[in-house]
Amino acid sequence: MRLVFLGLAGAGKGTQAKTLSEKLGVAFISSGDMFRHHLAQGTELGKLAKGYMDKGEMVPDEVTIRMILDRINQGDCQKGFILDGFPRTLNQAKALERALGDAPVDRVLYIKVGEEELVRRLAGRISCRTCGTPYAQQMLADDAKQCPRCGGELYQRADDQPEVVRRRLQVQWPEVQGLADFYGRQRKLVEIDGERPVEQVEEELVKAIDRVG
Ligand code: AMP
Repeated sequence: MRLVFLGLAGAGKGTQAKTLSEKLGVAFISSGDMFRHHLAQGTELGKLAKGYMDKGEMVPDEVTIRMILDRINQGDCQKGFILDGFPRTLNQAKALERALGDAPVDRVLYIKVGEEELVRRLAGRISCRTCGTPYAQQMLADDAKQCPRCGGELYQRADDQPEVVRRRLQVQWPEVQGLADFYGRQRKLVEIDGERPVEQVEEELVKAIDRVG
């Protein structure tokens, strides 16, 4: 099972992709989490990515593609994987297609949420520094400091500040549209209304995947 989650920042891709990967027993790969990990470790890649991430811009395709394709080649991805946040450009989608060859992506799940709702969600989003899980503020106790999932430290991502959020959405919107068209033409795209409650979105996703094969 090879799945791609498509959608703008804050659409709920990360939350849903992570839950689904655990259910299916396949690898969860988030390009944003990988960049943040590099950043925390102070690697060269992390230093390079930081300049773009701080401004809400995309990290250049070349380094992003290399990082993800290296990850997909690892043993735990043999059974399948779920990609969250990659591909984000047409160039990345084509590189992925070439790399996967005759074992291509099965489905692309496009979670759609309107811009105002996205800004509202991201402004109130708290994330885990260790596992990357995002939480809406109201999901956590007022004095919560640790991630309910892994115990890691909770924080607000610098790029979830309103000005950077607007820039991220502006940058991502045309790319997401292009990717929806690309996968739509391949008849792999499933569109899901992401403004409904999390459990309903999850149900829709499971239904979409049941039809694979
Ligand atoms: P995310 O956690 O998916 O919201 O990503 C956070 C930031 O990481 C983005 O705003 C970009 O700067 C960078 N990033 C993540 N995935 C990609 C990608 N596929 N291509 C380029 N930049 C990316």
